[in-house]
Amino acid sequence: MKNIALHWKILIGMALGVVYGLVLSFVDGGGDFIGDFIKPFGTIFINLLKLIAIPLILASLIKGVSDLKDISKLSQMGGRTILTYVATTLIAVTIGLILVNTIQPGKSISVETRQELVEAYATDADQKREAAAKQQEAGPLQALVDIVPSNIFAAATNNRNMLQIIFFALFFGIGMILLPEESSQPVKAFFDSFNAIILKLIDMIMMAAPYGVFALLAALVVEAPSLELFQALALYAVTLLLGLGAMIIVYSIIVKVFTGRSPSTFFKGIAPAQLLAFSTSSSAATLPITMECVEENLGVDKEVTSFVLPIGATINMDGTSVYQGVAAVFIAQAFGLDLSLSAQLGIIFTATLASIGTAAVPSAGIVMLVIVLAQAGIPEAGLALIFAIDRPLDMCRTIVNVTGDAAVSMLVGKSIGKLKD
Ligand code: ASP
Repeated sequence: MKNIALHWKILIGMALGVVYGLVLSFVDGGGDFIGDFIKPFGTIFINLLKLIAIPLILASLIKGVSDLKDISKLSQMGGRTILTYVATTLIAVTIGLILVNTIQPGKSISVETRQELVEAYATDADQKREAAAKQQEAGPLQALVDIVPSNIFAAATNNRNMLQIIFFALFFGIGMILLPEESSQPVKAFFDSFNAIILKLIDMIMMAAPYGVFALLAALVVEAPSLELFQALALYAVTLLLGLGAMIIVYSIIVKVFTGRSPSTFFKGIAPAQLLAFSTSSSAATLPITMECVEENLGVDKEVTSFVLPIGATINMDGTSVYQGVAAVFIAQAFGLDLSLSAQLGIIFTATLASIGTAAVPSAGIVMLVIVLAQAGIPEAGLALIFAIDRPLDMCRTIVNVTGDAAVSMLVGKSIGKLKD
């Protein structure tokens, strides 16, 4: 088993979980056994993911922002880079939301199954109702007020306050940039190392993923023996893949319009990085190859790639943005919640921030999804619903994350005359 790649192990864990759940659902008391002795391990796994969310945001955002120090030196390139990254991210979330609202993969779940789901996660639903009631009493600017915590330690005690943590991390990072380097250096070194440790923890949690998905899928099968839920999940996957495909078309247009290069040259040049992104599910791990492809095959100057690509790997995750939009609304649909236009606009905002804060490692996207769900008042328990098929989708969204960084570096290179003809 040792030499098998993690994604295969996870796929095997999924398959075995389904088979195990199916077999035990025919055995007397099998369902109870899974509920009592297997499902808790799935819950522990999800808890670990949630546990790491706040430290992850603090570490990766503070590190990400403080690394932007060079922007003051390279302000011309910096402004364009950030602007284009934010624009492609907004396009990505919007495409995701349009598709998921049109296809409505979660609506295919029948009223009974939905009822079971809602009952299974009743506590979440209650909290949501309370939050909704509070929201109704509040004024129109309450959402803005809620972003600014009055006490950082109090904010950090609840996963629902992630936007407050993001606010603090950005604020803190900006403070670091504004200080002379000597004054901020010790704290910067601390956060660089803190970030490395958190990434290691995610690595360790992912080692447990094959067992986690086994438990989650076995429990999913016995709890929802109907094929219906699986059909809905398949439709969700198709919706997401369509969104990711649409982003690839967006990049073709960007490359053609802004650099005059043919999309096929672009995709041929970036293919090795895309394959590596697919097999590692990590844009950070792919970064060295992305740089090589963009420099050697696409002719972008090193001066541009060494600035644009590492920042892109940290803050530009268009595949993850499509995913966060689609997944959040899918879960809401599965739970029978109707999201208002303003809730969906809120998702665009939080998904943009969340994708910026997502670390470029496997499964970081689903961790950050907690924020989007919490802010939109969608039950976090819905994570359990989509986790089972998250890994293959993570592999696909990482391809888009890497491709987006490459397209933007060509655009920036061209705009400052650093793209070879
Ligand atoms: N795996 C993705 C990446 O490294 C992040 C995510 O989980 O969405 O780009």
